[in-house]
Amino acid sequence: MAKRKLTKKQTWRIAKIQEEKAKRAEQKEAEISDQLSAGELGDEIHGQVIAHFGSQVEIEDRERNSYRCFMRANLGPLVTGDMVVFRPGAENDKGIRQGVVETRLDRESELSRPNPYNEIKPVAANIDFIVLVVAPEPHAHANLIDRYLVACENCHIEPIILLNKVDLLDDLSRFHLYPLLERYHNLGYQILQVSAKDPDSLGDLKDFLNDRVSVFVGQSGVGKSSLIDTLLPDVELKVGALSENTRKGKHTTTTARLYHFPAGGDLIDSPGIREFGLWHMSEDEVLYGFRELRDLAGHCRFRDCRHESEPGCALIEAVDNDEVTPERFVSYKRILETLSEL
Ligand code: GDP
Ligand code: ZN
Repeated sequence: MAKRKLTKKQTWRIAKIQEEKAKRAEQKEAEISDQLSAGELGDEIHGQVIAHFGSQVEIEDRERNSYRCFMRANLGPLVTGDMVVFRPGAENDKGIRQGVVETRLDRESELSRPNPYNEIKPVAANIDFIVLVVAPEPHAHANLIDRYLVACENCHIEPIILLNKVDLLDDLSRFHLYPLLERYHNLGYQILQVSAKDPDSLGDLKDFLNDRVSVFVGQSGVGKSSLIDTLLPDVELKVGALSENTRKGKHTTTTARLYHFPAGGDLIDSPGIREFGLWHMSEDEVLYGFRELRDLAGHCRFRDCRHESEPGCALIEAVDNDEVTPERFVSYKRILETLSEL
């Protein structure tokens, strides 16, 4: 299509829109400095980012009072879970307390995933545990579990494996699942078993979640929504609601939000976080993601060992000596083979 020349009127309108945008940004800065100079901002206090709305963030103080905060221009990007220092201000005309975020504290951990431009970016911070949900149905493939674990290991956030839908277990699925879970247990991964349909089965999980910040990840259909619904009974669930709203074109945020479990502990959740883990990785990241293999590779006879059939391959020797299970080694090779497909 030929490039269309803009009419004078269109050029004028574009210029006007840009001018208005700049004016609004200026106004916001002016509002902040007005509040500052009028002494309307209180002393600096600690808070946590609960949600992100583009130009503003929702912050909670330690007493769980909520504030809509502007961000200082030199602050750098904030994500849900970030710990900050902020100064509370007056209520806005909707009765919401406002404030200004002054500083971001160092992050203990970052959960990262690719953005639409394929750049790996943090989407949530200060997460203690990734709860990887698996179930008898849909079938828990070892290779898929390993993929998630590789992503967790590369974020340096400890995963735990949560077997949901234990009410559906029968002899056949036990025969498949128990040896599989035992392999992960032997590698040092903690395993819990629950049924989202049976609140009485959730005691150990609640104890585990208490005092920590967790995210739930895993294949579609394993029961993440059901679990979160049961654990957060008073919060109307957002993930389904969010995507519906978005379809209708309503303005909603699809970024992560932090929730407090009534039994203690916090959850950070978003549709993007639930899809965590299934993206392209480098060969080194895949190797690093297998905790029992990562230190072995340096001991191969050849520096450029492909761990295929080379003599003196430390990985193959470890499999032969029963130090590494053949299942995990096969899984490692399979993920390497499929790297280009992701
Ligand atoms: P998600 O895609 O991981 O969020 O999975 P959902 O929470 O949507 O659950 C998928 C299906 O599994 C739904 O039909 C749930 O009712 C069902 N489900 C979830 N948890 C359990 C459970 O513990 N036992 C049984 N029998 N079904 C479950
Ligand atoms: Zn090797």
